[in-house]
Amino acid sequence: MTLVHDLKLAAMRVLEKAPDAIGSVSSVRTDEAIIVPTFDDGPTPRRTHDVLRALADHEATATFFVLMTSVRANRGLLDEVVAAGHEVGLHGMDHRHLPTLSRAEATEMITRGKAELEDALGLPVRWFRPPHGDQSVETWRIIREAGMESVIWSGTSWDWNPDATQDERVAKATANLDRGTILLFHDGHAGPADLGDPVPEPDLDRYELLDRVLRIAQARGLRAVSLGRALERGSVVTRPHFNLHPKHLAAAVRR
Ligand SMILES: [Zn+2]
Repeated sequence: MTLVHDLKLAAMRVLEKAPDAIGSVSSVRTDEAIIVPTFDDGPTPRRTHDVLRALADHEATATFFVLMTSVRANRGLLDEVVAAGHEVGLHGMDHRHLPTLSRAEATEMITRGKAELEDALGLPVRWFRPPHGDQSVETWRIIREAGMESVIWSGTSWDWNPDATQDERVAKATANLDRGTILLFHDGHAGPADLGDPVPEPDLDRYELLDRVLRIAQARGLRAVSLGRALERGSVVTRPHFNLHPKHLAAAVRR
């Protein structure tokens, strides 16, 4: 048997264990004309201020999925995010791929991260976004057992993609904007200090990207609000989302 064959079998076993009911929040079912911007990897200097400024200019709110590595380094910025009326969820203690960790490590990453963030906020944390969107059935369950819901997205802005132009990012983010869309943005760039992959950060104006996307949303009658706010008059749409970049599959199978 080849390694590729072994990996395919392992991937199939993971998927077979995933009944339809095991879903992650991907959008919001609502009659309200709203979208939900979300920001990962922050809070960080400059980037977080750029997106806070664009959100304020549009009287919008959003949900920030923070990394505890970023929070520890930029504690005052977390307070600014909260003071501006935004919602905070957890992205992790750091930016490792959850399915590559042992169950004990993944549990530690999720439960310690939640406890540390709740201490910092003085509020319960409802939402967890897995780093890279990578999760297995096992890590999905750990998120649930920790008292959180896994949140993915239904639209992306490509703000992590160094090969995209700003026009392409705006087009990507607005192509399928609809009521209840959860849009993925970043106000940080996870790197080696966050135990993330060493990928180059795109050189982009995050204020301009968000401002353009929100202007287009507004022209379509859509306002931007946080996930918690959207759910006051809506309900979650979930779908099974189990994913691991092939590059990391071997590590997940070996562990
Ligand atoms: Zn991330």
